[in-house]
Amino acid sequence: MKTLLALALLLNVSPFDQPKMVQYSTIDAFLAGVYNGDLTVGDLKKQGDFGIGTFNGIDGELFMLDGEVTQIRAVGNPVPATDDMLIPFATFCTFSPGHTATLAGPADDEAVYKMIEQRMFPNPNVFYAVELEGTFTEVIARAPRKQSSADAAISDVIDTQSVFTFQQIEGTMIGFWCPQFVNGINIGGWHMHFLSKDKTRGGHVLSFEIGQINVSVMEMMNFEVMLPHEANYFEANLNLDRAEIRTKIEQSQVGSHSDQDAVSAPKNQHPGSPALQ
Ligand SMILES: [Zn+2]
Repeated sequence: MKTLLALALLLNVSPFDQPKMVQYSTIDAFLAGVYNGDLTVGDLKKQGDFGIGTFNGIDGELFMLDGEVTQIRAVGNPVPATDDMLIPFATFCTFSPGHTATLAGPADDEAVYKMIEQRMFPNPNVFYAVELEGTFTEVIARAPRKQSSADAAISDVIDTQSVFTFQQIEGTMIGFWCPQFVNGINIGGWHMHFLSKDKTRGGHVLSFEIGQINVSVMEMMNFEVMLPHEANYFEANLNLDRAEIRTKIEQSQVGSHSDQDAVSAPKNQHPGSPALQ
């Protein structure tokens, strides 16, 4: 009995030692036009090794895996981010997955996400960091163009973004799943970024279809929010009219243009469930 008690105490990890998701700035601040932050890439790498976000001025998508930070730009050709680059919005953690699985397609993002939620997320009220690594038959991804104006609306950002379609591509998708109660600080549900194995293509994931992938999941009980120490954050009006923003975003998506080598077509539907292996 004493041994059992000792074992239970040994396994009883302090709440402070549970894996943690860290959020720098909030999605509402971002929607309110806070496109400049004071977090550097160098500091980000000291606090985590896995994360997604963007760069000041919304200059492309941020992709951090194994402590290496990549800037995925609207012009294509991702480049390594330098330690002095600044970040206005990021979500990150130190990734140490507890669950892994292999999935075989064909299956689209909806089927893959559903399978992961049902089979690999034991608790819908906590946070998850997820890595999908392997072969994708298609990935549709976007990257925003740096905004020249500090007061560009989020609809301007969408209007000027690039949308890329990649086919038969090897790479890694990383990101987070958050419970709905996080809305306003982050976004409930999935947020994933992609980088190809050869690091030449990537973006914020809009949709995908898998060939065969390895799935790694880390459950996180702790959630930390860091706020920008920046005048544009202090002065922002965060009492947002979300309905108005949603309408603006929908209108700009309807009229959005895409680059010549890109498509803005709706995702292909490939119904069916991926096979768990
Ligand atoms: Zn993103």
